[in-house]
Amino acid sequence: MAVQTTASSAAASTVTAVTASSASPSVDLGPAAALSCRECGHRVPLGPVFACEECFGPLEVAYDFSGYDAEELRRRIEAGPANIWRYAPLLPVPADVAGKPNLNPGWTQLVKADNLARELGVTGGLYVKDDSGNPTHSFKDRVVAQALEAARAFGFTTLSCSSTGNLAGAVGAAAARAGLRSCVFIPHDLEQGKVVMAAVYGGDLVGIEGTYDDVNRFCSELIGDPAGEGWGFVNVNLRPYYAEGSKTLAYEICEQLGWRLPDQIVVPIASGSQLTKIDKGLRELIALGLVEDRPYKIFGAQAEGCSPVSAAFKAGHDVVRPQKPDTIAKSLAIGNPADGPYVLDIARRTGGAVEDVTDAQIVDAIRLLARTEGIFAETAGGVTVGVTRKLIENGVLDPTLTTVVLNTGDGLKTLDAVAGTGPTAVIRPTLDSFREAGLA
Ligand SMILES: *Cc1c(COP(=O)(O)O)cnc(C)c1O
Repeated sequence: MAVQTTASSAAASTVTAVTASSASPSVDLGPAAALSCRECGHRVPLGPVFACEECFGPLEVAYDFSGYDAEELRRRIEAGPANIWRYAPLLPVPADVAGKPNLNPGWTQLVKADNLARELGVTGGLYVKDDSGNPTHSFKDRVVAQALEAARAFGFTTLSCSSTGNLAGAVGAAAARAGLRSCVFIPHDLEQGKVVMAAVYGGDLVGIEGTYDDVNRFCSELIGDPAGEGWGFVNVNLRPYYAEGSKTLAYEICEQLGWRLPDQIVVPIASGSQLTKIDKGLRELIALGLVEDRPYKIFGAQAEGCSPVSAAFKAGHDVVRPQKPDTIAKSLAIGNPADGPYVLDIARRTGGAVEDVTDAQIVDAIRLLARTEGIFAETAGGVTVGVTRKLIENGVLDPTLTTVVLNTGDGLKTLDAVAGTGPTAVIRPTLDSFREAGLA
């Protein structure tokens, strides 16, 4: 996988109104060689830029993986730390990354979900990749860890983001550990659990009167303004690096399956970034010879109340029409998902699908996962489990194949979703009272 680094001019990044001066060749981001446009393939040097100067397409990290021997790489990974840095040779981070103060996320449990499999009629092996086990209890720690390294490399002193909740907490915590300032932006009406998690790490938290899409638009304006100078927005001007963190989910799933591709993966969609990078990670493992090349299908999961990608998939469209979100799955409530069209491509190319479930089905699925596997998922996990159930019922997902379902967040942050869950009985502290309750 040799990568041609066409060292183009330093003016490469002016399109985003961020100076390209920090994109010097001395930037050490390990095997990352350049940024390349996902639309036209145009290459620019590594820097805090995210849009192509030629066609305004999104930029992504391109690597030089030449010189990697599959056996040696596998041994090196297996001897690495029990966190995402075991995959440092495949990420846009310096070689000594594991020694720097950071949250060391990842290497979360891949739970063999036999009880859930019985309930859903899956016979080919069902697994839950449980990312609630990350330091701030969502998958976002993976992506923020990459953005933090890019922020360090480019000399940013404030870490920022637009967030549907989980990202704000992950950025606050990462900045605290790294000794950076943080200032994060969220819609003002998020769940209490998300707000507290975002605020407790001591950075600045700003609630914006509007939807996530309004928050995101505001952040894009701030980047172009002197008020945002020196700020690294993990999911805006650092987005190419941030997005690479989701590849670690693909790497871990395959390694935990014994260096084997799963047949089917069910992934939640907010912006769609995670899903597209899981696909990128799987393709890299195949190209590097770390897993055997065989077909896999990727399924996308949304809430009905915010289902722009699912609606486009079902209608056979290539473009995604924005929606105004109204769902309890607030972490996935992005009405205008940046990676929507790429998600459609991947679902269609791999033979997968994109499906959605109602809020009631999300709650049912949260309870189902909790009661069968002892995993308390946030609403996003209810979305993936609910969609898995629906896809099996509709004959779209094959229950005889190995299937991995992602749980990307912790139920403690979205307690309202299961409000009304409480004690089976309240009794006096006497045996008589206990017998009367009929639980003996
Ligand atoms: C952010 C988030 C996702 C996915 O986000 P993408 O923008 O699609 O990458 C999934 N689950 C949870 C809980 C999240 O917070």
